[in-house]
Amino acid sequence: MATPVTPHPLADLTSMRVGGTPAEIYAAKTRDDLIEHTLNVWRSGDDWLLLGGGTNMVVADNVENLRVIKVENMGIEPVRNKDETRVVVRVQAGENWDDFVAHTVKAGLAGIEAMSGIPGTVGASPVQNIGAYGQELSDSMVRLEFVDYETHEIAILEAKDLQFGYRDSAIKRGRPGVITWVEFELQKLDGLSRPLYSTQIAADLGVAMGAQVSLEAVRASVLKLRARKGMVIDENDPDSVSCGSFFTNPIVSDRVARGLPDDAPKYESEEDDGLTVKLSAAWLIENAGIEKGFRIAGSRAAISSKHTLAIVNTGGATATEILQLAEYVQVRVSNKFGINLVPEPNLIGFI
Ligand SMILES: Cc1cc2nc3c(=O)[nH]c(=O)nc-3n(C[C@H](O)[C@H](O)[C@H](O)COP(=O)(O)OP(=O)(O)OC[C@H]3O[C@@H](n4cnc5c(N)ncnc54)[C@H](O)[C@@H]3O)c2cc1C
Repeated sequence: MATPVTPHPLADLTSMRVGGTPAEIYAAKTRDDLIEHTLNVWRSGDDWLLLGGGTNMVVADNVENLRVIKVENMGIEPVRNKDETRVVVRVQAGENWDDFVAHTVKAGLAGIEAMSGIPGTVGASPVQNIGAYGQELSDSMVRLEFVDYETHEIAILEAKDLQFGYRDSAIKRGRPGVITWVEFELQKLDGLSRPLYSTQIAADLGVAMGAQVSLEAVRASVLKLRARKGMVIDENDPDSVSCGSFFTNPIVSDRVARGLPDDAPKYESEEDDGLTVKLSAAWLIENAGIEKGFRIAGSRAAISSKHTLAIVNTGGATATEILQLAEYVQVRVSNKFGINLVPEPNLIGFI
């Protein structure tokens, strides 16, 4: 059954704690209700927003015409065994991502353990192909159910249909719709993780890259590493009042990368074409002269004191203040390096 919620500021439902009061907030508790209610809203022609955990959006201060559909359908069920070691699990969109990761770790299923601590819902996870510490959603997601905004049809989309890229998917690039459930293929590896693909986890655990360690050890290490950077939501950590990374790491041509100082970190890009290079947005920001904790005079938005890539609401900031700081960072980086930083969060209700 769906539950209408008395409208209140979206600041209360988003991790950045900004956003005005919409016309309606409607909590859909089942897949069928999510579909039925969303189709009704679409047919009305009203402005709409799908809200998961609200951890990857900056909502404008003025959104009184918006009808918000809050995705709250729950459930985790194994659907089939592909063979002796591979299991396919279906997860309803409203499940909390990290609760799902914890569930898989407890069940001895490998594949998403390095993505422990990422906030938000399972339904939003394919939108920007979430990832951290050497794992990405696209490594283990196999298919999902999608209600297409353009056609109003319900379809099963395979991973290849989503054209995943780095923090990107066909949905994020402009194919709006609702994800109602997601299926993952996970592995039984006798309680061990996938081979480690993160120098940070390997160093923390004192093992070599590529080693396999217990799923619990990977999860504990990741949660510890993330907390140090303000990257797990913790009401006692003011640096976690954010959207996580505010900018994606830019992917530039090899020529542009060669024009940067030698100490600028340069990584192989996921494009894997030998022509592009991934840069560190945090390095660019720091080397454009913006330090941790920086804020524009009088503003309540600041750069996190733990991580240059996060913008935080230090208390009572408006959405406008958050975006002013983001634009300031973009201009400084562009002036110094000629590189445009692209915001990672979804900007809702800004014209
Ligand atoms: C402290 C912190 C750390 C973070 N660290 C990481 C990280 O390490 N890696 C990473 O990739 N991200 C990270 N993020 C970003 C964020 O956690 C992810 O993008 C997450 O998937 C967002 O989930 P959500 O449910 O909160 O989405 P929301 O913010 O509610 O929505 C995000 C977008 O997805 C759409 N959406 C939501 N639900 C659905 C659905 N069911 N169907 C279709 N569209 C939907 C929304 O309309 C919106 O456009 C971090 C954020 C924070 C605050």
